[in-house]
Amino acid sequence: MWLQVFLFCLSCLLLSIQTQAQGRASLHRSNDPSGRCHYTFTVANPQESSCPGSKPEMDQALSRLTLLEASVSRLLTGVDGGTMTGVGGSSEKGLQEAFSQVTAQKNQLQQDKERLNMQVQELQRRLAELSQEAESLRQKPCQQTFTSGGTQHENRPASDPTYDFGNSGYQEMKAEVTEISASHLFLEGSHNFTGCGELVSVGDPVLHRKAESITGKYGVWMQDPEPQGPQYTNKTVWRIDAVGKDVRQLFAYEDMDQFSRGFPMKVLVLPEPVESTGATLYQGSFYYQRKRSRTLVRYDLASETLASRMDLPNAGFHGQHPYSWGGYTDIDLAVDEQGLWAIYSTSKARGAFVISQLDPKSLEVKKSWETNIKKNTVANAFMVCGHLYTVASYTAPNTTINFVFDTATGVGQAVAVPFKNKYHYNSMVDYNHAQRKLYAWDNFHMVTYDIRLGRATHGRS
Ligand code: CA
Repeated sequence: MWLQVFLFCLSCLLLSIQTQAQGRASLHRSNDPSGRCHYTFTVANPQESSCPGSKPEMDQALSRLTLLEASVSRLLTGVDGGTMTGVGGSSEKGLQEAFSQVTAQKNQLQQDKERLNMQVQELQRRLAELSQEAESLRQKPCQQTFTSGGTQHENRPASDPTYDFGNSGYQEMKAEVTEISASHLFLEGSHNFTGCGELVSVGDPVLHRKAESITGKYGVWMQDPEPQGPQYTNKTVWRIDAVGKDVRQLFAYEDMDQFSRGFPMKVLVLPEPVESTGATLYQGSFYYQRKRSRTLVRYDLASETLASRMDLPNAGFHGQHPYSWGGYTDIDLAVDEQGLWAIYSTSKARGAFVISQLDPKSLEVKKSWETNIKKNTVANAFMVCGHLYTVASYTAPNTTINFVFDTATGVGQAVAVPFKNKYHYNSMVDYNHAQRKLYAWDNFHMVTYDIRLGRATHGRS
């Protein structure tokens, strides 16, 4: 009974579908892979000729996708050409602002450049005027004399403003020249005694030159006691400003007068940098310690070449055994009547002075002495007649030469010879046996001290 009803309903349904489908419906029956029977009805839609998502819609979607890809591509490659707003518009605005800023900065720099050019031209003009003035002074030696009142003078060119004695700069230079002349007179008098002796006294410092810049706070200056000529003589003055990371410039001055005026005749560039203030001059060579090493260098002044170099055996360097003021003054070279010396210390000597006499050609050590005074307890040292002398303080205005060591006997003793640090920061003291003077560099000031030698008259303790 139920089967008859189901078949009837199915017949009605088929008939209805067939009617609605206007004969386009079909029924299929087939087995699936598991053997079960499947019925499939296929009915055409009377409203649509094709399924949604068919070709026209796909074409439309494809068209939209193509447009989108093209837009993305333009954004990425920046070929939008300014037609887009949004991100492209803000980017263009940022670029315009940056361009405006760069243009403003460029204009400012241009103005600065023009201003600096004007300053350079002004400085060049003033330099030319000063050079002319200096040349004028050089060509017209001082012929005037003062009365006891110091207000009258003779032979004064009325039209030359450089002879205006109200000019303080001129008075200063005159004073320095007078000081040098006085020291020369003293020197001539002292030439009568050329023998060796012990240091009896040290005179007051005589100023020859003040350094022009911070690089001259400390340095080395000297004259060769035994020049080899003819290019350089015993009048030639040599100077190195020792402040700086790479000290190589060696200034040569024709004589003490040109040195005092600050007019070098030549600047030699050393092949290797100089360490500190221990350099010296002897027999036409400049001797110095190479920077950050125990290497000693001999530089031949005439040929301007490195003549020899040699390590000073076991010598402390670069702050291991400096003088009390520091400054990497580990190795101090010195010259006296007996030749070339190195003043230094070693780890074996535990910071006490070691003195070595060097071969001036090869720089080899000929003989060494050890002392019992600590190098870092004194300010400086120098050699006179085979004796080492030490300076007690580099800052005290009134200090002493406080120790002497005689290499002939190997005996050292304390002494007390007065010594003045007029400018309170004495970084170099060396002896010149030809001039019988100490040369020193005291806080930008290059000074000499006259000394007296003789039999030991100072009280020793
Ligand atoms: Ca010295």
